[in-house]
Amino acid sequence: MQKIAILYDASQAVLSTFDLDEVLQRILVIACDYFHLKNVAILLLDEPTQELCVRSQIGWDKGCDQVRMAVGQGITGTAAKLKRPVYAPDVSKDLRYVCSATGTRSEVAIPLMVRDEVVGVLDCQSENLNHFDNHTIDLLTLFSTQASMALQNARLYSLERRRAQQLEAINAIAQQTTAVLDVKELLIKVCSLIQQAFQVSHVSVLLREEDDLVLRAHHGSLTPRTVEGGRLSAATGLWGQALSAGKTVIEDDVRTVPEYVGLYTESGSRMCIPLVSFGQTLGALLLDNVEPKAFRSGDVQSLESVADICATAIQNANYVERVRQLAYVDGLTGIFNRRFFELRISEEMERARRFQTGMAVIMVDIDHFKRLNDEFGHLLGDEVLRQVSSIFHQQLRKIDVVCRYGGEEFSILLSQTNLQHAVSVAEKLRRMVETWQFPGVPRPVTISAGAATYPDHGTTRDDLVKAADAGLYAAKQAGRNRVFLAPVGGKSSAAAGSQ
Ligand code: GH3
Ligand code: MG
Ligand code: MG
Repeated sequence: MQKIAILYDASQAVLSTFDLDEVLQRILVIACDYFHLKNVAILLLDEPTQELCVRSQIGWDKGCDQVRMAVGQGITGTAAKLKRPVYAPDVSKDLRYVCSATGTRSEVAIPLMVRDEVVGVLDCQSENLNHFDNHTIDLLTLFSTQASMALQNARLYSLERRRAQQLEAINAIAQQTTAVLDVKELLIKVCSLIQQAFQVSHVSVLLREEDDLVLRAHHGSLTPRTVEGGRLSAATGLWGQALSAGKTVIEDDVRTVPEYVGLYTESGSRMCIPLVSFGQTLGALLLDNVEPKAFRSGDVQSLESVADICATAIQNANYVERVRQLAYVDGLTGIFNRRFFELRISEEMERARRFQTGMAVIMVDIDHFKRLNDEFGHLLGDEVLRQVSSIFHQQLRKIDVVCRYGGEEFSILLSQTNLQHAVSVAEKLRRMVETWQFPGVPRPVTISAGAATYPDHGTTRDDLVKAADAGLYAAKQAGRNRVFLAPVGGKSSAAAGSQ
Protein backbone atom coordinates (compact mmCIF):
# COMPACT_ATOMS: atom_id res chain seq x y z
CA MET A 1 0.00 0.00 0.00
CA GLN A 2 2.82 2.34 0.92
CA LYS A 3 4.40 1.60 -2.45
CA ILE A 4 1.31 2.55 -4.41
CA ALA A 5 0.71 5.66 -2.32
CA ILE A 6 4.22 7.03 -2.77
CA LEU A 7 4.29 6.30 -6.50
CA TYR A 8 0.92 7.90 -6.93
CA ASP A 9 2.03 11.04 -5.13
CA ALA A 10 5.28 11.21 -7.07
CA SER A 11 3.53 10.79 -10.42
CA GLN A 12 1.07 13.51 -9.47
CA ALA A 13 4.01 15.77 -8.71
CA VAL A 14 5.57 14.98 -12.08
CA LEU A 15 2.36 15.77 -13.91
CA SER A 16 1.58 18.90 -11.93
CA THR A 17 3.76 21.35 -13.86
CA PHE A 18 6.33 21.69 -16.65
CA ASP A 19 8.67 23.63 -14.40
CA LEU A 20 11.47 21.18 -13.69
CA ASP A 21 12.67 22.82 -10.49
CA GLU A 22 9.20 22.84 -9.04
CA VAL A 23 8.67 19.16 -9.90
CA LEU A 24 11.99 18.14 -8.36
CA GLN A 25 11.33 20.10 -5.21
CA ARG A 26 7.91 18.45 -4.82
CA ILE A 27 9.47 15.00 -5.33
CA LEU A 28 12.05 15.74 -2.64
CA VAL A 29 9.36 16.85 -0.21
CA ILE A 30 7.51 13.55 -0.79
CA ALA A 31 10.74 11.58 -0.24
CA CYS A 32 11.42 13.43 3.03
CA ASP A 33 7.90 12.71 4.27
CA TYR A 34 7.70 9.04 3.36
CA PHE A 35 11.21 8.00 4.32
CA HIS A 36 11.59 10.29 7.32
CA LEU A 37 14.61 12.06 5.93
CA LYS A 38 15.94 15.54 6.69
CA ASN A 39 18.40 15.59 3.88
CA VAL A 40 17.69 14.76 0.21
CA ALA A 41 18.99 16.07 -3.09
CA ILE A 42 18.82 15.60 -6.83
CA LEU A 43 22.07 16.07 -8.65
CA LEU A 44 22.20 16.34 -12.45
CA LEU A 45 25.00 15.20 -14.70
CA ASP A 46 26.71 17.95 -16.67
CA GLU A 47 27.60 16.12 -19.90
CA PRO A 48 30.64 18.08 -21.07
CA THR A 49 32.44 18.07 -17.71
CA GLN A 50 31.07 14.72 -16.47
CA GLU A 51 30.34 16.29 -13.11
CA LEU A 52 27.27 16.08 -10.91
CA CYS A 53 25.77 19.41 -9.88
CA VAL A 54 23.05 19.89 -7.28
CA ARG A 55 19.83 20.96 -8.97
CA SER A 56 17.47 20.68 -6.03
CA GLN A 57 18.06 19.86 -2.35
CA ILE A 58 16.54 19.91 1.11
CA GLY A 59 18.64 20.06 4.27
CA TRP A 60 22.15 20.38 2.88
CA ASP A 61 24.69 22.58 4.70
CA LYS A 62 25.14 26.09 3.36
CA GLY A 63 27.45 26.24 0.35
CA CYS A 64 27.65 22.46 -0.05
CA ASP A 65 25.17 22.55 -2.92
CA GLN A 66 27.70 24.58 -4.97
CA VAL A 67 30.20 21.70 -4.94
CA ARG A 68 30.51 19.73 -8.16
CA MET A 69 31.10 16.03 -7.78
CA ALA A 70 33.03 14.14 -10.44
CA VAL A 71 31.58 10.86 -11.67
CA GLY A 72 33.23 8.23 -9.48
CA GLN A 73 33.69 10.63 -6.55
CA GLY A 74 31.70 10.34 -3.30
CA ILE A 75 28.68 8.07 -2.78
CA THR A 76 26.70 9.99 -5.43
CA GLY A 77 29.52 9.93 -8.00
CA THR A 78 30.02 6.22 -7.45
CA ALA A 79 26.32 5.53 -8.04
CA ALA A 80 26.52 7.48 -11.30
CA LYS A 81 29.59 5.57 -12.35
CA LEU A 82 28.27 2.11 -11.47
CA LYS A 83 24.75 2.88 -12.73
CA ARG A 84 23.24 1.25 -9.64
CA PRO A 85 22.30 2.30 -6.09
CA VAL A 86 25.20 2.70 -3.69
CA TYR A 87 24.59 2.48 0.04
CA ALA A 88 26.84 3.57 2.89
CA PRO A 89 25.14 2.33 6.13
CA ASP A 90 27.81 4.09 8.23
CA VAL A 91 29.39 6.98 6.37
CA SER A 92 32.20 7.32 8.90
CA LYS A 93 33.51 3.94 7.75
CA ASP A 94 33.10 4.61 4.04
CA LEU A 95 36.18 6.12 2.39
CA ARG A 96 34.12 7.34 -0.56
CA TYR A 97 31.95 9.54 1.62
CA VAL A 98 32.04 13.32 1.01
CA CYS A 99 30.18 15.38 3.61
CA SER A 100 27.40 17.70 2.50
CA ALA A 101 25.44 17.89 5.79
CA THR A 102 26.77 17.61 9.32
CA GLY A 103 24.97 14.93 11.31
CA THR A 104 24.64 12.48 8.40
CA ARG A 105 25.28 8.89 9.53
CA SER A 106 24.05 6.89 6.53
CA GLU A 107 23.60 7.69 2.84
CA VAL A 108 22.12 6.05 -0.21
CA ALA A 109 22.55 7.32 -3.78
CA ILE A 110 20.36 6.09 -6.63
CA PRO A 111 21.20 6.85 -10.26
CA LEU A 112 18.52 8.55 -12.35
CA MET A 113 18.38 6.86 -15.72
CA VAL A 114 16.82 7.91 -18.99
CA ARG A 115 16.94 4.92 -21.30
CA ASP A 116 20.44 3.61 -20.77
CA GLU A 117 22.03 6.88 -19.75
CA VAL A 118 22.67 8.26 -16.29
CA VAL A 119 21.27 11.79 -16.17
CA GLY A 120 21.61 12.42 -12.44
CA VAL A 121 21.46 10.99 -8.94
CA LEU A 122 18.87 10.96 -6.16
CA ASP A 123 20.77 11.31 -2.92
CA CYS A 124 19.22 10.49 0.49
CA GLN A 125 20.99 10.96 3.80
CA SER A 126 19.88 10.08 7.31
CA GLU A 127 21.01 11.01 10.80
CA ASN A 128 20.58 7.37 11.80
CA LEU A 129 23.04 4.59 11.22
CA ASN A 130 21.72 1.81 8.94
CA HIS A 131 18.66 3.89 8.14
CA PHE A 132 17.96 2.27 4.77
CA ASP A 133 17.01 -1.40 4.56
CA ASN A 134 16.72 -3.30 1.28
CA HIS A 135 13.02 -2.73 1.05
CA THR A 136 13.45 1.04 1.44
CA ILE A 137 16.22 1.10 -1.16
CA ASP A 138 13.97 -0.82 -3.58
CA LEU A 139 11.17 1.59 -2.92
CA LEU A 140 13.49 4.58 -3.39
CA THR A 141 14.72 3.08 -6.67
CA LEU A 142 11.16 2.79 -7.87
CA PHE A 143 10.51 6.31 -6.64
CA SER A 144 13.57 7.62 -8.48
CA THR A 145 12.05 6.57 -11.82
CA GLN A 146 9.47 9.29 -11.27
CA ALA A 147 12.26 11.85 -10.94
CA SER A 148 13.83 10.46 -14.14
CA MET A 149 10.51 10.84 -15.86
CA ALA A 150 10.23 14.43 -14.69
CA LEU A 151 13.68 15.12 -16.15
CA GLN A 152 12.78 13.44 -19.40
CA ASN A 153 9.54 15.39 -19.64
CA ALA A 154 11.26 18.66 -18.86
CA ARG A 155 13.84 17.98 -21.54
CA LEU A 156 11.26 17.06 -24.13
CA TYR A 157 9.22 20.06 -23.18
CA SER A 158 12.13 22.46 -23.46
CA LEU A 159 13.10 20.83 -26.77
CA GLU A 160 9.53 21.24 -27.98
CA ARG A 161 9.49 24.81 -26.79
CA ARG A 162 12.79 25.51 -28.50
CA ARG A 163 11.41 23.97 -31.69
CA ALA A 164 8.27 26.05 -31.44
CA GLN A 165 10.32 29.20 -30.80
CA GLN A 166 12.52 28.38 -33.78
CA LEU A 167 9.51 27.82 -36.01
CA GLU A 168 8.16 31.14 -34.88
CA ALA A 169 11.52 32.76 -35.61
CA ILE A 170 11.67 31.20 -39.07
CA ASN A 171 8.23 32.57 -39.76
CA ALA A 172 9.15 36.01 -38.51
CA ILE A 173 12.34 36.04 -40.56
CA ALA A 174 10.42 34.97 -43.67
CA GLN A 175 7.81 37.67 -43.14
CA GLN A 176 10.21 40.43 -42.28
CA THR A 177 12.80 39.72 -44.93
CA THR A 178 10.51 39.49 -47.93
CA ALA A 179 9.39 43.04 -47.24
CA VAL A 180 12.94 44.43 -47.26
CA LEU A 181 14.30 45.16 -50.71
CA ASP A 182 17.37 47.09 -49.70
CA VAL A 183 20.22 44.58 -49.50
CA LYS A 184 22.15 46.29 -46.72
CA GLU A 185 19.07 46.75 -44.53
CA LEU A 186 18.02 43.18 -45.22
CA LEU A 187 21.36 41.69 -44.16
CA ILE A 188 21.46 43.62 -40.89
CA LYS A 189 17.93 42.49 -40.11
CA VAL A 190 18.71 38.87 -40.92
CA CYS A 191 21.76 38.87 -38.63
CA SER A 192 19.96 40.36 -35.64
CA LEU A 193 16.85 38.16 -36.02
CA ILE A 194 18.91 34.97 -36.18
CA GLN A 195 21.12 36.06 -33.31
CA GLN A 196 18.10 36.61 -31.07
CA ALA A 197 16.06 33.60 -32.12
CA PHE A 198 18.88 31.07 -31.90
CA GLN A 199 20.75 32.67 -29.04
CA VAL A 200 24.17 32.59 -30.64
CA SER A 201 26.96 35.01 -29.77
CA HIS A 202 27.42 36.44 -33.26
CA VAL A 203 25.89 36.09 -36.72
CA SER A 204 27.60 37.16 -39.95
CA VAL A 205 26.69 37.16 -43.62
CA LEU A 206 29.49 36.65 -46.10
CA LEU A 207 28.63 37.29 -49.74
CA ARG A 208 30.51 36.19 -52.81
CA GLU A 209 32.28 38.79 -54.90
CA GLU A 210 34.42 37.38 -57.67
CA ASP A 211 36.72 34.83 -56.01
CA ASP A 212 36.38 36.30 -52.52
CA LEU A 213 33.81 36.47 -49.78
CA VAL A 214 32.98 39.89 -48.37
CA LEU A 215 31.77 40.39 -44.80
CA ARG A 216 28.61 42.30 -45.68
CA ALA A 217 26.86 42.42 -42.28
CA HIS A 218 27.22 41.07 -38.75
CA HIS A 219 25.49 41.34 -35.40
CA GLY A 220 26.35 40.14 -31.91
CA SER A 221 28.54 40.56 -28.88
CA LEU A 222 31.94 39.38 -30.13
CA THR A 223 34.95 41.49 -31.14
CA PRO A 224 35.47 41.49 -34.91
CA ARG A 225 38.92 41.00 -36.41
CA THR A 226 37.72 42.06 -39.85
CA VAL A 227 35.94 45.27 -40.74
CA GLU A 228 32.60 45.25 -42.49
CA GLY A 229 33.34 45.11 -46.20
CA GLY A 230 36.53 43.16 -45.51
CA ARG A 231 37.47 40.54 -48.10
CA LEU A 232 38.23 36.93 -47.21
CA SER A 233 39.51 34.18 -49.40
CA ALA A 234 36.57 31.95 -50.34
CA ALA A 235 38.86 28.93 -50.42
CA THR A 236 40.10 29.04 -46.81
CA GLY A 237 38.59 28.63 -43.37
CA LEU A 238 35.33 27.09 -42.35
CA TRP A 239 33.44 28.84 -45.17
CA GLY A 240 35.87 27.38 -47.70
CA GLN A 241 34.93 23.89 -46.49
CA ALA A 242 31.20 24.65 -46.39
CA LEU A 243 31.16 26.22 -49.85
CA SER A 244 33.21 23.50 -51.54
CA ALA A 245 31.17 20.73 -49.90
CA GLY A 246 27.91 22.64 -50.45
CA LYS A 247 26.70 21.80 -46.96
CA THR A 248 26.68 22.95 -43.35
CA VAL A 249 29.93 22.51 -41.44
CA ILE A 250 30.35 22.79 -37.65
CA GLU A 251 33.58 23.38 -35.76
CA ASP A 252 32.94 22.26 -32.18
CA ASP A 253 36.17 23.66 -30.81
CA VAL A 254 38.10 26.17 -32.88
CA ARG A 255 41.23 25.70 -30.74
CA THR A 256 41.68 22.24 -32.16
CA VAL A 257 41.52 23.44 -35.77
CA PRO A 258 44.89 23.75 -37.49
CA GLU A 259 45.30 26.96 -39.54
CA TYR A 260 42.21 28.39 -37.90
CA VAL A 261 40.92 31.54 -39.66
CA GLY A 262 38.44 33.31 -37.42
CA LEU A 263 36.44 36.51 -37.70
CA TYR A 264 35.96 37.07 -33.96
CA THR A 265 38.45 37.07 -31.10
CA GLU A 266 36.38 35.22 -28.49
CA SER A 267 34.95 32.53 -30.75
CA GLY A 268 34.90 28.99 -29.29
CA SER A 269 32.73 27.13 -31.80
CA ARG A 270 31.30 27.96 -35.21
CA MET A 271 28.78 26.86 -37.75
CA CYS A 272 28.79 27.79 -41.43
CA ILE A 273 25.81 27.31 -43.75
CA PRO A 274 26.08 27.99 -47.49
CA LEU A 275 23.55 30.51 -48.82
CA VAL A 276 22.15 28.94 -51.96
CA SER A 277 19.30 30.29 -54.07
CA PHE A 278 18.14 28.51 -57.23
CA GLY A 279 21.36 26.54 -57.38
CA GLN A 280 23.51 29.66 -57.15
CA THR A 281 25.82 29.98 -54.14
CA LEU A 282 25.58 33.56 -52.94
CA GLY A 283 27.83 33.21 -49.91
CA ALA A 284 27.62 31.84 -46.40
CA LEU A 285 25.87 32.38 -43.11
CA LEU A 286 28.33 32.18 -40.22
CA LEU A 287 27.37 31.62 -36.58
CA ASP A 288 29.91 32.03 -33.80
CA ASN A 289 29.56 31.04 -30.15
CA VAL A 290 31.88 31.74 -27.24
CA GLU A 291 31.56 28.23 -25.77
CA PRO A 292 32.99 25.20 -27.49
CA LYS A 293 30.43 22.58 -28.56
CA ALA A 294 27.65 25.16 -28.39
CA PHE A 295 25.75 24.01 -31.46
CA ARG A 296 23.06 21.38 -31.11
CA SER A 297 22.56 19.00 -33.97
CA GLY A 298 18.79 19.49 -33.53
CA ASP A 299 19.13 23.16 -34.50
CA VAL A 300 20.88 22.54 -37.80
CA GLN A 301 17.72 21.86 -39.76
CA SER A 302 15.99 25.01 -38.51
CA LEU A 303 19.05 27.11 -39.26
CA GLU A 304 19.30 25.66 -42.75
CA SER A 305 15.67 26.64 -43.36
CA VAL A 306 16.51 30.15 -42.20
CA ALA A 307 19.54 30.24 -44.50
CA ASP A 308 17.33 29.20 -47.45
CA ILE A 309 14.88 31.99 -46.71
CA CYS A 310 17.74 34.48 -46.40
CA ALA A 311 19.32 33.36 -49.67
CA THR A 312 16.03 33.88 -51.51
CA ALA A 313 15.53 37.27 -49.87
CA ILE A 314 19.08 38.34 -50.77
CA GLN A 315 18.56 37.19 -54.34
CA ASN A 316 15.30 39.17 -54.53
CA ALA A 317 16.93 42.28 -53.10
CA ASN A 318 19.85 41.94 -55.53
CA TYR A 319 17.40 41.60 -58.37
CA VAL A 320 15.44 44.65 -57.30
CA GLU A 321 18.65 46.63 -56.93
CA ARG A 322 19.68 45.59 -60.41
CA VAL A 323 16.32 46.59 -61.87
CA ARG A 324 16.49 49.86 -59.99
CA GLN A 325 19.97 50.43 -61.34
CA LEU A 326 18.86 49.62 -64.87
CA ALA A 327 16.11 52.17 -64.55
CA TYR A 328 18.75 54.85 -64.01
CA VAL A 329 21.31 53.76 -66.55
CA ASP A 330 21.33 54.72 -70.20
CA GLY A 331 21.40 51.64 -72.40
CA LEU A 332 23.57 53.04 -75.18
CA THR A 333 26.33 54.77 -73.23
CA GLY A 334 26.26 53.04 -69.82
CA ILE A 335 26.22 56.37 -67.97
CA PHE A 336 23.25 57.58 -65.89
CA ASN A 337 20.10 58.74 -67.63
CA ARG A 338 17.94 61.82 -67.21
CA ARG A 339 15.78 60.16 -64.56
CA PHE A 340 18.86 59.82 -62.37
CA PHE A 341 19.81 63.44 -63.03
CA GLU A 342 16.41 64.58 -61.79
CA LEU A 343 16.77 62.44 -58.68
CA ARG A 344 20.25 63.67 -57.85
CA ILE A 345 20.01 67.35 -58.64
CA SER A 346 17.68 68.01 -55.72
CA GLU A 347 19.92 65.97 -53.39
CA GLU A 348 23.00 67.90 -54.51
CA MET A 349 21.23 71.24 -54.08
CA GLU A 350 20.10 70.25 -50.60
CA ARG A 351 23.65 69.27 -49.68
CA ALA A 352 25.00 72.56 -51.07
CA ARG A 353 22.41 74.46 -49.06
CA ARG A 354 23.12 72.64 -45.83
CA PHE A 355 26.91 72.77 -45.99
CA GLN A 356 27.10 76.00 -48.01
CA THR A 357 29.54 74.38 -50.38
CA GLY A 358 28.04 75.39 -53.72
CA MET A 359 27.36 73.10 -56.66
CA ALA A 360 27.17 73.38 -60.43
CA VAL A 361 25.11 72.15 -63.35
CA ILE A 362 26.68 71.90 -66.79
CA MET A 363 24.55 71.23 -69.87
CA VAL A 364 26.51 69.92 -72.85
CA ASP A 365 25.41 69.41 -76.46
CA ILE A 366 27.45 67.90 -79.31
CA ASP A 367 27.81 70.35 -82.19
CA HIS A 368 26.30 69.54 -85.60
CA PHE A 369 25.59 66.00 -84.55
CA LYS A 370 22.87 65.61 -87.15
CA ARG A 371 25.41 66.35 -89.84
CA LEU A 372 27.82 63.81 -88.32
CA ASN A 373 25.09 61.18 -88.45
CA ASP A 374 24.24 62.08 -92.01
CA GLU A 375 27.86 61.95 -93.15
CA PHE A 376 29.13 58.88 -91.31
CA GLY A 377 26.03 56.94 -90.45
CA HIS A 378 23.98 56.43 -87.34
CA LEU A 379 26.14 53.58 -85.98
CA LEU A 380 29.22 55.75 -85.97
CA GLY A 381 27.13 58.48 -84.35
CA ASP A 382 26.30 55.99 -81.59
CA GLU A 383 29.99 55.23 -81.13
CA VAL A 384 30.79 58.94 -80.83
CA LEU A 385 28.10 59.23 -78.13
CA ARG A 386 29.69 56.34 -76.22
CA GLN A 387 33.17 57.80 -76.47
CA VAL A 388 32.12 61.29 -75.44
CA SER A 389 30.34 59.73 -72.41
CA SER A 390 33.47 57.82 -71.55
CA ILE A 391 35.66 60.95 -71.79
CA PHE A 392 33.31 62.79 -69.42
CA HIS A 393 33.19 59.86 -67.02
CA GLN A 394 36.96 59.56 -66.89
CA GLN A 395 37.67 63.25 -66.55
CA LEU A 396 35.32 63.88 -63.65
CA ARG A 397 35.61 63.02 -59.96
CA LYS A 398 33.84 60.01 -58.49
CA ILE A 399 31.45 62.29 -56.62
CA ASP A 400 30.35 64.09 -59.80
CA VAL A 401 27.38 62.83 -61.79
CA VAL A 402 27.38 62.54 -65.59
CA CYS A 403 24.07 61.83 -67.29
CA ARG A 404 22.82 61.48 -70.81
CA TYR A 405 20.07 64.06 -70.74
CA GLY A 406 18.68 62.95 -74.08
CA GLY A 407 19.85 62.54 -77.71
CA GLU A 408 23.31 64.14 -77.94
CA GLU A 409 22.86 66.21 -74.81
CA PHE A 410 24.53 65.60 -71.47
CA SER A 411 23.97 67.05 -68.03
CA ILE A 412 26.65 67.10 -65.36
CA LEU A 413 26.36 67.76 -61.61
CA LEU A 414 29.49 68.96 -59.84
CA SER A 415 29.29 68.95 -56.08
CA GLN A 416 31.24 71.40 -53.87
CA THR A 417 31.92 73.61 -56.85
CA ASN A 418 31.97 77.38 -57.47
CA LEU A 419 31.64 79.38 -60.70
CA GLN A 420 35.31 79.39 -61.65
CA HIS A 421 35.76 75.71 -60.99
CA ALA A 422 32.63 74.81 -62.96
CA VAL A 423 33.85 76.76 -65.95
CA SER A 424 37.32 75.27 -65.84
CA VAL A 425 35.88 71.74 -65.65
CA ALA A 426 33.57 72.41 -68.62
CA GLU A 427 36.47 73.93 -70.53
CA LYS A 428 38.65 70.88 -69.80
CA LEU A 429 35.92 68.61 -71.21
CA ARG A 430 35.50 70.80 -74.28
CA ARG A 431 39.22 70.65 -75.03
CA MET A 432 39.42 66.90 -74.45
CA VAL A 433 36.62 66.26 -76.96
CA GLU A 434 37.97 68.72 -79.50
CA THR A 435 41.37 67.03 -79.52
CA TRP A 436 40.08 63.47 -79.35
CA GLN A 437 40.64 61.29 -82.38
CA PHE A 438 37.31 59.57 -82.98
CA PRO A 439 37.96 56.48 -85.12
CA GLY A 440 36.19 56.82 -88.46
CA VAL A 441 35.65 60.56 -88.09
CA PRO A 442 38.34 62.44 -90.07
CA ARG A 443 37.69 65.79 -88.39
CA PRO A 444 37.27 67.09 -84.85
CA VAL A 445 34.02 66.59 -82.98
CA THR A 446 33.16 69.52 -80.76
CA ILE A 447 30.79 70.30 -77.94
CA SER A 448 29.16 73.42 -76.56
CA ALA A 449 28.42 73.84 -72.87
CA GLY A 450 26.53 76.11 -70.51
CA ALA A 451 27.27 76.26 -66.80
CA ALA A 452 25.25 77.51 -63.86
CA THR A 453 25.97 77.36 -60.15
CA TYR A 454 24.04 77.22 -56.91
CA PRO A 455 23.21 79.67 -55.43
CA ASP A 456 24.51 82.27 -57.98
CA HIS A 457 22.04 81.30 -60.74
CA GLY A 458 19.16 80.14 -58.61
CA THR A 459 18.11 77.97 -55.74
CA THR A 460 15.59 75.69 -57.46
CA ARG A 461 16.06 72.84 -59.92
CA ASP A 462 14.22 74.71 -62.68
CA ASP A 463 16.17 77.93 -62.23
CA LEU A 464 19.51 76.13 -62.38
CA VAL A 465 18.69 73.95 -65.39
CA LYS A 466 17.13 76.89 -67.25
CA ALA A 467 20.21 79.01 -66.54
CA ALA A 468 22.62 76.31 -67.73
CA ASP A 469 20.45 75.81 -70.85
CA ALA A 470 20.56 79.52 -71.50
CA GLY A 471 24.38 79.37 -71.28
CA LEU A 472 24.40 76.48 -73.74
CA TYR A 473 22.10 78.35 -76.13
CA ALA A 474 24.36 81.39 -75.94
CA ALA A 475 27.42 79.21 -76.65
CA LYS A 476 25.69 77.83 -79.78
CA GLN A 477 24.70 81.32 -80.85
CA ALA A 478 28.25 82.54 -80.41
CA GLY A 479 29.50 79.92 -82.89
CA ARG A 480 29.68 76.57 -80.95
CA ASN A 481 32.70 74.75 -79.48
CA ARG A 482 32.71 76.98 -76.45
CA VAL A 483 31.65 77.20 -72.81
CA PHE A 484 29.31 79.96 -71.64
CA LEU A 485 28.37 80.91 -68.16
CA ALA A 486 24.68 81.42 -67.68
CA PRO A 487 23.65 85.06 -67.36
CA VAL A 488 23.36 86.27 -63.79
CA GLY A 489 20.43 88.63 -64.15
CA GLY A 490 21.65 89.81 -67.55
CA LYS A 491 23.63 88.63 -70.55
CA SER A 492 25.50 85.33 -70.82
CA SER A 493 29.21 85.70 -70.65
CA ALA A 494 31.72 83.75 -72.64
CA ALA A 495 33.78 81.80 -70.17
CA ALA A 496 36.25 80.59 -72.72
CA GLY A 497 36.09 79.28 -76.22
CA SER A 498 37.81 78.59 -79.44
CA GLN A 499 36.87 77.52 -82.89
P1 GH3 B 1 23.61 71.72 -82.91
O1 GH3 B 1 25.04 72.00 -83.13
O2 GH3 B 1 22.77 72.94 -83.02
O3 GH3 B 1 23.38 71.01 -81.64
O4 GH3 B 1 23.19 70.81 -84.10
P2 GH3 B 1 22.79 69.27 -83.99
O5 GH3 B 1 22.76 68.70 -85.34
O6 GH3 B 1 23.67 68.59 -83.05
O7 GH3 B 1 21.38 69.36 -83.32
P3 GH3 B 1 20.01 68.71 -83.64
O8 GH3 B 1 19.22 68.83 -82.39
O9 GH3 B 1 19.45 69.31 -84.88
O10 GH3 B 1 20.28 67.20 -83.94
C1 GH3 B 1 20.59 66.27 -82.98
C2 GH3 B 1 20.77 64.96 -83.66
O11 GH3 B 1 21.22 63.96 -82.75
C3 GH3 B 1 19.51 64.47 -84.26
C4 GH3 B 1 19.46 62.99 -83.94
O12 GH3 B 1 19.34 62.21 -85.07
C5 GH3 B 1 20.78 62.74 -83.30
N1 GH3 B 1 20.64 61.74 -82.27
C6 GH3 B 1 19.88 61.79 -81.14
N2 GH3 B 1 20.00 60.64 -80.44
C7 GH3 B 1 20.88 59.85 -81.11
C8 GH3 B 1 21.41 58.55 -80.91
O13 GH3 B 1 21.11 57.87 -79.94
N3 GH3 B 1 22.28 58.06 -81.82
C9 GH3 B 1 22.65 58.77 -82.92
N4 GH3 B 1 23.51 58.25 -83.77
N5 GH3 B 1 22.14 60.00 -83.14
C10 GH3 B 1 21.27 60.55 -82.28
MG1 MG C 1 23.67 69.14 -81.03
MG1 MG D 1 20.67 68.82 -79.26
